[in-house]
Amino acid sequence: MELTTAIEKYRKLQAKLSAYYHAMSLIHYDGVTSAPSATAANRGQTLSVLSEETYLLSTGKETLELLEFLDAHKDELDYVQARSVYLSLKEIKEMQKIPLEEYVAYEELMVQSDDVWHKAKETSDFALFLPYLEKIFEYQKRFARYCAPDVHPYNYCLDKYEDGLTMDRCDEFFAALKSRLVPLIKKIGQKEQIDDSFLYGDFSEADQEKFSLSLMDVIGIDKGHCGLSTTEHPFTTSFGSHHDVRITTNYYRNNFTFSMFSVIHEGGHALYDMGSDDSLAYTNLDGGVSMGIHESQSRFYENLLGRSREFTKYVFPTVCSCFPSMKSCTAEDFYRAVNKVSPSLIRVDADEVTYALHIMVRYELEKRIMSGDLEVKDLPAEWNRLYKEYLGVDVPSDREGVLQDSHWSGGAIGYFPSYALGSAYGAQLLKKMKESVDVEACLKAGDFAPINAWNKENIWKHGRVYTPSQLLERVLGEAFDPFVFTDYLEKKYGEIYGL
Ligand code: ZN
Repeated sequence: MELTTAIEKYRKLQAKLSAYYHAMSLIHYDGVTSAPSATAANRGQTLSVLSEETYLLSTGKETLELLEFLDAHKDELDYVQARSVYLSLKEIKEMQKIPLEEYVAYEELMVQSDDVWHKAKETSDFALFLPYLEKIFEYQKRFARYCAPDVHPYNYCLDKYEDGLTMDRCDEFFAALKSRLVPLIKKIGQKEQIDDSFLYGDFSEADQEKFSLSLMDVIGIDKGHCGLSTTEHPFTTSFGSHHDVRITTNYYRNNFTFSMFSVIHEGGHALYDMGSDDSLAYTNLDGGVSMGIHESQSRFYENLLGRSREFTKYVFPTVCSCFPSMKSCTAEDFYRAVNKVSPSLIRVDADEVTYALHIMVRYELEKRIMSGDLEVKDLPAEWNRLYKEYLGVDVPSDREGVLQDSHWSGGAIGYFPSYALGSAYGAQLLKKMKESVDVEACLKAGDFAPINAWNKENIWKHGRVYTPSQLLERVLGEAFDPFVFTDYLEKKYGEIYGL
């Protein structure tokens, strides 16, 4: 085979796989946004057919021969092509280790478990979800054994979301955060608490939606390529390529800041996804490189920018026009209220300082289950015990406890540490960005263009061309340092609370 013919064949294969993923993502998306409640079985049936087709196409003899041919000629490929082939081969070889019937059964389980989790959360009924969650953890352990028999199954899971992440690295990272966060939270707790009562009231969904759409404009999202809908749990997804991205939020009538910050958070994910270089569209290099880097972008927009004094002041007139009751307070009151530090029950509502503790609870539980030290049925009791120990709060129901997140129902075991890592990456990225961009001036003026241009140039456009650590090293020019994040928190909250 000629090399040029092989490259063209590979391009077509990638486009075909993108089309399958596009269809499957749309079916998932329909399931969580607008599909009627009794249609999950139908989606499960269609998805099992499509996932079987994808599996066969990805792992078939012809595909493998093509990839091995390209791999043998990797010195003649450019860096981007070689990286794409390397990733395809790695993924396919892993996929081949999972028996087809298990792969397909797992896809079907995902559809059912998402549906059951929604019902279980609604009624706070962990027992309903338990058999599905047990199966999910069993599958994860089995897949880890098939694909990486020599590594700890939880390390296999962590690595899927952040290349090279291990329990050792997580333990070290969380210990570093804990050493600085626990004393900070204690000091804040001794100070007078911030009044945020004016954030609670009656805010119609229509007003919140209007505000959300205006926020998307402010942070620079092209609505021609990114839609907004509502779901129980906010998320971002892309369909086939970075040209079609969707974000979701949830509107709580009594508090508009939940949707405000979830739209900015998901907006950060969407900007990253949409920022891939056009040459990467319909290839396996399109989109974000890892969940850690993804969360570094979403939490960058949500917190480092969205909860800054400059941005809250800029957006405050729009807040007042959408929600007239807010006129009774000042922009400074608003800034302080959205930065109130208070140990709480719900991760997605947590403030920047206590947020990592929510992650540590989940990390510890996943690690123990994947190590065989904890049974899934004992999760609620252990969850509640750790929330008391880490955050000092009593969990009144599983709905506000172990059932709150959608990750486990979607099989995302090992994902949570990415949030804390992403927050810390973000702080170091901001420090670097400030060397060449006047971030404060941009936020004061509501001008995100220079900020987005920096992110596009340094992070977004590269898609999955570099590994997460290569990407960070290129941008930062220094090693990752979690204390940049804790320094940022100490400075910001020291000022707010007069520590
Ligand atoms: Zn996120």
